[in-house]
Amino acid sequence: MSTWPTGTVARYLTVGTATVDVTEVAAYPSVEGPTETVALCGGCGERHVRDWGFDFEARDRGEDQSERLDSGGAGATAGARRWAQSHAERCRALPKPEAGR
Ligand SMILES: [Zn+2]
Repeated sequence: MSTWPTGTVARYLTVGTATVDVTEVAAYPSVEGPTETVALCGGCGERHVRDWGFDFEARDRGEDQSERLDSGGAGATAGARRWAQSHAERCRALPKPEAGR
């Protein structure tokens, strides 16, 4: 099993032997830390994104975002994990072979 990518918090094995990675992603260069959770299937490439609710207008007003950010993504990550589990149970796409294997 290969090393998990940075920010990956969960990995699900699909029925097609690919993996679905759930990753907390820093989507905005101007924002410190992750702001969304992404589930990505390595078999079929289907992608599911859950935004943590970062609000640029609120930031520009000087409001603290820590409360708004979905308690550190707890809800978004839980939702992405549910999606990944469900997707892994039915995705039969094979992972694309890597060069040299
Ligand atoms: Zn898939």
